[in-house]
Amino acid sequence: MAATILDGNKIAAEIRAEVAAEVKTMGAAGIRPGLAVVLVGHNPASEIYVRGKVKSSEEVGISSEQHTPPDNVSTGQLLSLIADLNRRDEIDGILVQLPLPSQVDSKKVLLSVDPAKDVDGFHPMNVGFLSTQRPGLVPCTPAGIIEILSRSHIPIAGREVVVVGRSDIVGKPVAMLLLNANATVTVCHSKTRDLPGVCRRADILVAAIGRAGMITRDYVKLGATVIDVGMNKVTDRAEFMRLFAGNAKREETFRTKGAVLVGDVHPEVAEIAGAITPVPGGVGPLTIAMLMANTVRAAKLR
Ligand code: NDP
Repeated sequence: MAATILDGNKIAAEIRAEVAAEVKTMGAAGIRPGLAVVLVGHNPASEIYVRGKVKSSEEVGISSEQHTPPDNVSTGQLLSLIADLNRRDEIDGILVQLPLPSQVDSKKVLLSVDPAKDVDGFHPMNVGFLSTQRPGLVPCTPAGIIEILSRSHIPIAGREVVVVGRSDIVGKPVAMLLLNANATVTVCHSKTRDLPGVCRRADILVAAIGRAGMITRDYVKLGATVIDVGMNKVTDRAEFMRLFAGNAKREETFRTKGAVLVGDVHPEVAEIAGAITPVPGGVGPLTIAMLMANTVRAAKLR
């Protein structure tokens, strides 16, 4: 039986509507949450992400401003920009779009963001709050994954969860959130032995790897829930055929655009999973929706 598709666009729209309602209520009390986005240079992918974040802010009523220092900005200049944003009372959230150019000390810059305004949830203080189950700001993509599961009524407590990937922005925080929700969590990475065997134990499998279609049916227990975080651009014809041979819609996209967006999970997994997030339209839309939710949360916590 084909898997239930977990529609990220629909869930993200629900969250945005809830956030917009909260912003309206706050507005009646004279408070308007504000988000500052720092975008260095002209990375085309970053520009697209930032445009989406600014547009989404406007739609839910959050005021937003963009700071666009040039490519050759120094660490010192960025630190002084962030110090200014930290000081300004009308700014509730600060987001520094990654990656930063190589001459910039990214860790130092991220560390300088006031943890109370760290809407990305990357500051070590917020990482500590998450692991000790104190209120704080949680990274957007992991928080979005929990929303997908809970709003789709997929139980977490007591279940076997396997997370493939241990990055600071996805793998580790999502594992921590799932552990906090009482799952039995295994975190895998590139040195894990018998990865397919470990993954087959999962009632819920989270793939955050960055390798197009790596998770094939071999890795998945019949009926498992599969959360595909991966966002990979496939431009190679042979790779495209390995993933989408016979898929007319994708063939059309590949032909016209020369590339398709693919998750870390092979499309064949939809034939055996119980539920699955599509790519695009799964986890991705939740990331921006949770950024909006985090900005409102930061405003309230402050
Ligand atoms: P990273 O590259 O930081 O981490 C990848 C992880 O996957 C590492 O822990 C790595 O292991 C592990 N890994 C790599 N190859 C293998 C392998 N062959 N077997 C087992 N584990 C492996 O990536 P991110 O966490 O930043 O992102 C992961 C994916 O999610 C990417 O495709 C990214 O584009 C996407 N993403 C999507 C978002 C969204 O909004 N939908 C948001 C953020 C990311 P090791 O630690 O041993 O190197």
